[in-house]
Amino acid sequence: MDIANLILPDEEATARWAGLLADTLAAEPLAEQPFVVHLSGDLGAGKTALARAILRKLGFAGPVKSPTFSLVEPYNLPNFSIYHFDLYRFSSGEQWFDAGFDDILAGPGLMLLEWPEKAAGAIAAPDLLLELVATGNDRRRLHARAFTDSGRRCLNRLVQASAPQPATGRDASS
Ligand code: ADP
Ligand code: MG
Repeated sequence: MDIANLILPDEEATARWAGLLADTLAAEPLAEQPFVVHLSGDLGAGKTALARAILRKLGFAGPVKSPTFSLVEPYNLPNFSIYHFDLYRFSSGEQWFDAGFDDILAGPGLMLLEWPEKAAGAIAAPDLLLELVATGNDRRRLHARAFTDSGRRCLNRLVQASAPQPATGRDASS
């Protein structure tokens, strides 16, 4: 299941789409299981902007900084935790295990992971892969791909939430 070539004309559009995604993620049992989202794309593609918008929509009101130097930022929300990773500075997949990140992914919570390519070979396929490509000025092209049943469930809900709603009430009966 894919959502291919979605055009996000500006950061506001990215934040709006991230908000829809966050709503579908909130329906997953994040307090009991991990849900893993990989964020791919060049520097400046908007991976952190997208992660920030997801965190905001899920109720985190504080500052969201890029985990480029800390490698992971944990966010403990009232009902579940979110872990925002950035593997940009990794030089090998080994570092994934050395950092203890496998243990974090074995636990519950939403895992938002930038630069998954840097741990290639060490990490499993995600529930969802989001790829961002800058296509001029503020335009970004997004490709969302599900690899698991949970991921497919989220994308299905997302497609339904973005589809035009059927007319209701007076309009429907006339
Ligand atoms: P990355 O984490 O992929 O390196 P960031 O999210 O840190 O990228 O930076 C993306 C930059 O691009 C930010 O300065 C953001 O304001 C800008 N931007 C412009 N248009 C968009 C868009 N459509 N979606 C996301 N970010 C955008
Ligand atoms: Mg980033």
